[in-house]
Amino acid sequence: MTDKGRQFVNTVLRLLIIIKMLKKFINFITFIDQPIKKKFMLFSTGVFFWFIVMFIISAAANMNINRRTYAIVNHMIPQDRVMQEITKNTETANLALYALAGVLLTATSLLIVFTISISKAIIKPVKSITRQIRSLWEGEVDFTQRIDISSKDEIGKLSEDFNILMERIHDLSTFKKIIEDDNNLEDVYFRLGKSFNEKIGLDAFVIYDVSSSLKKMKPVYPIIFNEKDISCSEEILHNCDLCKVKKTGRIISSIEYPDICNQFKQGFEKVHVCIPMIIGGQAEGVVQFLFDRKTNNSRKDKRIFKAEQYIKEALSVIEAKKLMNTLQESALKDSLTGLYNRRFLQEYTETLIAGVLRREKSVGLMMCDLDFFKQVNDLYGHNVGDNVLKETCEIIKKCIRSSDLVIRFGGEEFLVLMLDINGGETSQIADKIRETIEKTKIKVSDGIIKKTISIGISEFPTDAESFWQAIKFADVALYRAKDSGRNKVVRFTPDMSTEKGF
Ligand code: GH3
Ligand code: MG
Ligand code: MG
Repeated sequence: MTDKGRQFVNTVLRLLIIIKMLKKFINFITFIDQPIKKKFMLFSTGVFFWFIVMFIISAAANMNINRRTYAIVNHMIPQDRVMQEITKNTETANLALYALAGVLLTATSLLIVFTISISKAIIKPVKSITRQIRSLWEGEVDFTQRIDISSKDEIGKLSEDFNILMERIHDLSTFKKIIEDDNNLEDVYFRLGKSFNEKIGLDAFVIYDVSSSLKKMKPVYPIIFNEKDISCSEEILHNCDLCKVKKTGRIISSIEYPDICNQFKQGFEKVHVCIPMIIGGQAEGVVQFLFDRKTNNSRKDKRIFKAEQYIKEALSVIEAKKLMNTLQESALKDSLTGLYNRRFLQEYTETLIAGVLRREKSVGLMMCDLDFFKQVNDLYGHNVGDNVLKETCEIIKKCIRSSDLVIRFGGEEFLVLMLDINGGETSQIADKIRETIEKTKIKVSDGIIKKTISIGISEFPTDAESFWQAIKFADVALYRAKDSGRNKVVRFTPDMSTEKGF
């Protein structure tokens, strides 16, 4: 590098250092790095200092004029009249000095008052916001506390925005606490729907619950009675993989791509934004929002964003409730046939019976037992035995109403509860079951099996004082059916109970 070049580089470096120092100096004299309170104190001290300097200069100038006037009086103008005139002027000069002192005092007082009030107006809300933010990460936050809005400036706006933020967080955390205490999944969906409606102002949406194991999805909020009333093809309800959101686990919106989903059947006047509820890596629910095509896009986005916050809060609760449902289901159901088990009977008997008695109806009980079932296992093996059991329970279910209950009471024993019957109706249904089973040819690898069933019947409260006694009586009647040749339906009569020593 030449000397000239080196000199140029040195000059540039020096210039940069000077600029840096100048910046530092400006920061120092403008108090940029100081806290707001200190900024105001230093500012007012500075102004006060310059007031004093101005006062001293003005006073010195005034006194200098006085001194010079006296000099003129003493040496140049001796007459009394002139002397008096000058004395008068001197008094005016003193007055000017007093006025100067008065102005200084007033200006200083105003400076103090303004400095205190302005600094307070800034510092108070800022401190409050800082405190709230700190408590957020320290975990002791009180979401109900609000900052007083004392001005309409930027600080007032900041306080207002902060209050809105706190309100949102408060709403979300209250929402989560409430749904955690909800008894079941339906209540959680209901509250989620209500929040979309009341807190965000959304009125066209559907929450779908997805059952991945059954490949089904169903609208849970709002309650839709007719499948045709949903905005999508009804097929998605029976094959949830047809729903694009369920399949991909991504948000599917027709705002940008109108034909993005073939299942959407609302035409062009509406757009849809479908959001998945991802639990354990897959969509366990879908929320579909509908908007008029004309609605402003940023308005849609804002609402969707808010709705997503509520969905996020609800996810963990929905997951827990779904898990609970599955556990309960598996504890109350028999895995081979999918029928309820004895435990279900123990847990829900009281509720079931109370309803029937309140409606002044009866419960028909059928204790069903396959005849010589052991032979199936012995001849064809356990797997074929299992299939026969499954087939039998399907036949029983087809012969009764969907509101009736079938319980796997024992190995090859099924208890059928017919709720809300009028006395005497049970025998006809039992006969139908018996006849159907007798006629059914069950295909197995080695040919065809035909089985028969024996059924014992009792009715509650007609036959027994308690429900559990009615079960016993149905069992007694079943024993009689077996005893008298099998493939029979026997209705319990009181003489049977004495026979068996009840
Ligand atoms: P009965 O006409 O007197 O009722 O004769 P049964 O052979 O049907 O009655 P038993 O009580 O002697 O035998 C019932 C058989 O049911 C014994 C058991 O191995 C079989 N069993 C119970 N549960 C199951 C099951 O889940 N699967 C299969 N395959 N067999 C079962
Ligand atoms: Mg049997
Ligand atoms: Mg048996």
